[in-house]
Amino acid sequence: MQPTYSAEAEAYREKVQAFLAEHLPPSWGGIGTLEGEALEQFTREWRQTLYENGLLAQSWPKEYGGAGLSALESVIIAEEFAKAGVPSGGSNDVFGIQMLGNTLLSWGTDEQKSHHLPRILSGEDLWCQGYSEPNAGSDLGNVQTRAVLDGDEWVINGQKIWTSAGHLANWIFVLCRTDPDAPKHKGISFLLCPMDQPGVEVRPIKMISGESEFNEVFFTDARTAKDNVVGGVNNGWAVAMTLLGYERGESAATMPIRFRAELDRLIAMAKERGKDTDPRIRDRLAWCHTRVEIMRMNGMRTLTKFLAGQAPGPDASISKLYWSEYHQQLTELAVDVLGADAFAPTGRKPSSSFQTDDPGAPNSSASWTDTFLNARAETIYAGSSQVQKNILGEMVLGLPKEPRPA
Ligand SMILES: Cc1cc2nc3c(=O)[nH]c(=O)nc-3n(C[C@H](O)[C@H](O)[C@H](O)COP(=O)(O)OP(=O)(O)OC[C@H]3O[C@@H](n4cnc5c(N)ncnc54)[C@H](O)[C@@H]3O)c2cc1C
Repeated sequence: MQPTYSAEAEAYREKVQAFLAEHLPPSWGGIGTLEGEALEQFTREWRQTLYENGLLAQSWPKEYGGAGLSALESVIIAEEFAKAGVPSGGSNDVFGIQMLGNTLLSWGTDEQKSHHLPRILSGEDLWCQGYSEPNAGSDLGNVQTRAVLDGDEWVINGQKIWTSAGHLANWIFVLCRTDPDAPKHKGISFLLCPMDQPGVEVRPIKMISGESEFNEVFFTDARTAKDNVVGGVNNGWAVAMTLLGYERGESAATMPIRFRAELDRLIAMAKERGKDTDPRIRDRLAWCHTRVEIMRMNGMRTLTKFLAGQAPGPDASISKLYWSEYHQQLTELAVDVLGADAFAPTGRKPSSSFQTDDPGAPNSSASWTDTFLNARAETIYAGSSQVQKNILGEMVLGLPKEPRPA
């Protein structure tokens, strides 16, 4: 583990800080200070600023609109953006840039890269992830959505579920079964499919918070061009794993920053409400403090590996399990500090259901209760806690493999 940065990295940090000072308002307090139209406008304009400066997909080659920066430079940018409380892109960029774009750089043909990557960056195409099905979540290899070649096109039939942002996207990457006779993981292809066609129907699912961020997606004779297969026909499992395993080093650097700021905000709220003298609350706050510190150390370890060019291994499961289980405890504590106010939430709500509320957000009851509800899903998405424990047991601790169905 290397807890300090090189002089070269620190010099680059100054450049990033100068960029932020030039492009943010003088009294900037973090995106959490904005709401409604002001928030939407800032997010739109900020993404455009990053796009114009080649900072949306910093590590991508310049020919595809990236900045060709090193892993270290990307990490410094992510850290400084997290500290300043600004996002590193728009809300869809996790699907377009982080998931699909990076995967296309590994597996895409030249035509796929030159067509799709610039359109992702310009915002012309918004993507969503069509992996899960009613009978294929943890057991993803069980996907049953079928794709059959008909001349120059694939014809797709089946259903996906939990498709985040599916109602906003115009393209979906879909795991389809293309050889039903092959063993489970060998007959799958990774297809790119336009959503703006009669054969694709998106139905929203209402969440516990009352919002609808994810959907069911039904394919009924939906069509996509023959060339829209990534990584070769029946080789989709390998492509799907590249996409799932793609973990940028930045999250190891930024997550502890965001969780630290969130915990400090909770401590401030406990003080405001006179709960900081309650020994049971103090005990739980101390527990949270130790967890955030451990996350910071673990982040440095992951970051050191990432900067040394090592691919993320099963350690990614340690981090996923740790932060998601921690966050449920933290948000339960926040609701206990709120007391009866948690039953009638008021004030600014979080702008997204992912992890913490935005940096700079006020200590409103709606901020904490929504984050509390959203945290319920964190031990499920991106692989449930039980699945992470299986990975750690089998791949890190070398325990016997769990029995698999025949
Ligand atoms: C907020 C949210 C957003 C999501 N967004 C997307 C998206 O955009 N695109 C997409 O494709 N999917 C998405 N998902 C789906 C997500 O990937 C799945 O929910 C997840 O993989 C779990 O699958 P499942 O829901 O089918 O549960 P199941 O796999 O049916 O699991 C049910 C329970 O059984 C346990 N379990 C399953 N297998 C084992 C095992 N082998 N050993 C021990 N326990 C086991 C699980 O841990 C869980 O507790 C999203 C989910 C959520 C909650």
